[in-house]
Amino acid sequence: MFDINKLVRENIKRLTPYSCARDDYKGTTGVFLDANENPFGSLNRYPDPYQQKLKAAICKIKGVQETSIFLGNGSDEIIDLCFRVFCNPGIDKAMIFPPTYGMYEVSASVNDVAIIKVPLNNEFQINIKEIEPYFKDEKLKLMFICSPNNPTGNCMNHSDIEYIIRNFDGIVVLDEAYSDFSNEASFIDKTDLYPNLIVMQTFSKALGLASVRIGIAFSDPAIIHYFNRIKPPYNISTINQEAALNKLTDIELIMKQVNVIKNERERLASELASLNITCKVFPSDANFLLIKVKDANNIYNYLVNNEIIVRNRSSLIDNCLRITVGTKDENDKLLDALKRINL
Ligand SMILES: *Cc1c(COP(=O)(O)O)cnc(C)c1O
Repeated sequence: MFDINKLVRENIKRLTPYSCARDDYKGTTGVFLDANENPFGSLNRYPDPYQQKLKAAICKIKGVQETSIFLGNGSDEIIDLCFRVFCNPGIDKAMIFPPTYGMYEVSASVNDVAIIKVPLNNEFQINIKEIEPYFKDEKLKLMFICSPNNPTGNCMNHSDIEYIIRNFDGIVVLDEAYSDFSNEASFIDKTDLYPNLIVMQTFSKALGLASVRIGIAFSDPAIIHYFNRIKPPYNISTINQEAALNKLTDIELIMKQVNVIKNERERLASELASLNITCKVFPSDANFLLIKVKDANNIYNYLVNNEIIVRNRSSLIDNCLRITVGTKDENDKLLDALKRINL
């Protein structure tokens, strides 16, 4: 039987959470003399620590219960909270599948947690045979699976993800930052089924609010409960909660823009493939393309000199550039520059 309390750090189970003024009195009307706020101004009040209005809107769209979601100051805060809830510094371990998103390893280092790296295979898929021996490792608390994966752009095999969730004794953190650009189904619905699954999504990509810094975790209420116990009480500002709420009032526009980006991705992919500097355009389920070129460093520098900035990922994957899909105009500027290239 899965027991979350066996995975949570002892000090996290024991601690008394900070109790803020808004925890003691939950009403919304009255004379508020309880939080040492300044009575003057318009942004003078502390934000709702549990972001109830925003959560209600998200839950309505996603079809989940409010006790099953947590909002972080970006996905980055959620990644950090995973380490703080589950990993004893200097003792426990986490697993990642490189090349992948850099924050998992940085956050592990900050929390003094050792990282086991099991590289993706030639198809950029998880090597199941290689990780099976770790499934019962009591010190291994977290596995971070990014799907669609950054920077490779592809989804991990659905059946592999499910096999890992079912057989690994620790927590699987599934990062779905790019899932809105993919045709593969999200795992959000499976959080009811699997008490060791945390699915992360974000306002930073398809929703177009990277500056607002809001990440969403979908999980079993027992895990959400621990996130709430240790988060900084006012982790999302009122301005940011309102910006996010406002964005959710026009889902149709968001879907339209996502479709534009997906169509541009396909156009850009075929145009890039026809250039003589291109060795390979990898298939993408995200809003970026990974391409292998003849001389990535030179092409990167050439583009920077033309004020076009892409991400040089050569240090992770030989001679590869990661190119975010922009507007038609921006993509044309990139293509024009690459056609004029003369290295
Ligand atoms: C961009 C990105 C995120 C988003 O992080 P935020 O902190 O929510 O902006 C999360 N995961 C991956 C893999 C990303 O590429």
